[in-house]
Amino acid sequence: MSSMFDDLEYVMIDEERLMKRVVELAKQLENDFREKDPLMICVLKGSTMFFADLARNMDIPLRFDFMAVSSYGAGTTSGRLKMKKDLDSSVEGRHVIIVEDIMDSGNTLFYLKGLLSERKAASVSICTLLDKPSRREADIKPDYTGFEIENEFVVGYGLDYNERYRNMKIVGVLKRSIYGG
Ligand code: IMP
Ligand code: MG
Repeated sequence: MSSMFDDLEYVMIDEERLMKRVVELAKQLENDFREKDPLMICVLKGSTMFFADLARNMDIPLRFDFMAVSSYGAGTTSGRLKMKKDLDSSVEGRHVIIVEDIMDSGNTLFYLKGLLSERKAASVSICTLLDKPSRREADIKPDYTGFEIENEFVVGYGLDYNERYRNMKIVGVLKRSIYGG
């Protein structure tokens, strides 16, 4: 029987390491935001798995909201982002936690943080599962990071290659033959 895991070169972060780190981050957020009635924002679609596990491990009656942005296509320059789905709620005066799957150039989060600040959020914090600091273009740093990783293209636990592999319970590196098509 074929397995999607056969498409991986190797597993970068296994389920046990992932969950251990997610629980640590959840407890940290819980401590820092307990008195702040935070609004947790899931950036679709990549952060869905991380968002769900993070939120489930926080003992605060959280509010959720969802947004989706996309770049105008491969190789576009900084800041060329399009809002595909906006928030339902107002962020004015609210303490906002943006939950992201991965920070690469940083352009997506630079744009989102600016937008929510313009809308007068009381504070905007960024919690990213993965960070590739060597790829940074925008002047922005996450407030909470799960794992810093090397410059490799990863899939799983929400992250995709051509919209696939998001449902893996681990983070892994795809085989070159998959990219080659
Ligand atoms: P940034 O705006 O360059 O920081 O890009 C962030 C977005 O690029 C993420 O939300 C992902 O959708 C995508 N991305 C960046 N690196 C990877 C990766 O290694 N695997 C899958 N998606 C990635
Ligand atoms: Mg993506």
